[in-house]
Amino acid sequence: MDNINFLLELFFPSFCLGCQSEGTFLCSDCEHTLEISEFNYCLCSNQPLRLPGLTGKCNRCVNKKLTGLYSALPYKEKFLTKKLIYQFKYEPYIKSLARSLADILLEHLVLTKNLTEEIWQNSILLPVPMEKSKQKERGYNQAQELAKELGHSLHVPTVFDNLIKIKKTEAQMKLKAKERSENLLGAFKVKNPGQIQDKKVFLVDDVYTTGSTMEECAKVLKDAGAKQVWGIVVAREG
Ligand SMILES: [Zn+2]
Ligand SMILES: [Zn+2]
Repeated sequence: MDNINFLLELFFPSFCLGCQSEGTFLCSDCEHTLEISEFNYCLCSNQPLRLPGLTGKCNRCVNKKLTGLYSALPYKEKFLTKKLIYQFKYEPYIKSLARSLADILLEHLVLTKNLTEEIWQNSILLPVPMEKSKQKERGYNQAQELAKELGHSLHVPTVFDNLIKIKKTEAQMKLKAKERSENLLGAFKVKNPGQIQDKKVFLVDDVYTTGSTMEECAKVLKDAGAKQVWGIVVAREG
């Protein structure tokens, strides 16, 4: 523990979000109750198919820009999962949860045999961007914090401020499927296409709902020259 963290811990001790025990936001006992997925599922949001191979997508999804999705936990099943995600992105904004959530994702990659050199070579991690005003309000972009931690552990470069959000959009939750894609049209932009040229891009976010945000990002990234665009999230709905 470095000095600053030691002092923070002294004055603002952390308590496990599962059992309230002191010292961490997620103790190992509670982490073990989470049932991290041992399987890969397709990225479709309606009853996603469990995939026989390592990753990829089902026949319904062949025309999607997103190459596939890694997701460690079902969002709604466990109260603790919801709590972890909630505290990570809403007040009091526990930014340091990024480490625990990255560990959950790494465990999922181990369980599904997705930690091979082959998968991660020639790849970059890229957080799903947030509007500037929104990020200012929160103080951080949770996808960016998660990508940073994952990048450290996977030894994969993390690229910030290349894919940016250039348009204010309505909250996706309030909209129907078709409105969601229209809402996102023209919302994202790649600033430096050279940086993603022929790369495998792993788009990092906390939660995957219908996938329309990731699909729009994937479209923009592929148009700019990315070879593949995968989604990687802690939890998914549905
Ligand atoms: Zn606990
Ligand atoms: Zn599918």
